Amino acid sequence: MWYASPVTTEGYSITQRGSASRFLGKPARQPKTRWSWLACLLVAACGIPSPAVLVDRPDLRIASVSVGPANVFIVDRNGVRMMIDAANPGDEEAIEDNLAALEIDPSSIDYLILTHGHIDHAGTAAHFRGKYGIKIVAGVGDEGIIADHGRADICPTSALARFIRWAMSGRRYEPFAIDIPIDADFDLVELGVEGQILHLQGHTEGSIAILFDDQYFVGDQIRGGLLRRGQPTTHFFMCDLAENRAKLRALVERNPAASWYPGHFGPFDATYVAEYLARQSG
Ligand SMILES: [Zn+2]
Repeated sequence: MWYASPVTTEGYSITQRGSASRFLGKPARQPKTRWSWLACLLVAACGIPSPAVLVDRPDLRIASVSVGPANVFIVDRNGVRMMIDAANPGDEEAIEDNLAALEIDPSSIDYLILTHGHIDHAGTAAHFRGKYGIKIVAGVGDEGIIADHGRADICPTSALARFIRWAMSGRRYEPFAIDIPIDADFDLVELGVEGQILHLQGHTEGSIAILFDDQYFVGDQIRGGLLRRGQPTTHFFMCDLAENRAKLRALVERNPAASWYPGHFGPFDATYVAEYLARQSG
């Protein structure tokens, strides 16, 4: 059994704006990093609920093992277990605690798919690869960031983003090898999974999105709101906003009824992304 008691999805809806879903198992340990602490102080609530099961279908299960404002997901599909993103360096124990609360053995995870190489997405990748032999799937374009311990040039989109850049400064993670490098759109059937990886770029050179039917994992192409996490808004760091919005528009057109899971806060429906895009161009 993948998810034993006390896990349940009864009464949970991801379509409510800023919905408060139930927490499952013991509460996540508080995040350790300066960035996580500051972000939690800023938003009063630390992002998506965790540990929690978000989707529980016969062919697709999605759980959150997020730490503070850094979303981390476990996806089960076609008998393959995938982790999407890996939070900040120092969050290893908190992720393991969340996995334990959901009765997920870390060594049962086949792949860690990184939406990109930034410090708050790939921070524990070396730990999970080294300790549990989990294979890393990531964009080749972020090899430089990964080799440089997560250091990257980022373009703040607001005064708050400049503050967050300061809060994140100085954090470094242990570099790691990419086992399955992505440099173009990739059909996950090659790993035995019905799904696609899109080679999106934009936020970083190696940024990817992962699509399972109508469930989209979009990394930092967009984020949820600080006070209303189910309300999409411009990400803190984006160098070319026009290009970013064109890519978001194409993703919405691909499936206007999809559910989106960003790297921070959320989730939200594609219809809300369409409304966000209309506001930006209006
Ligand atoms: Zn990022």
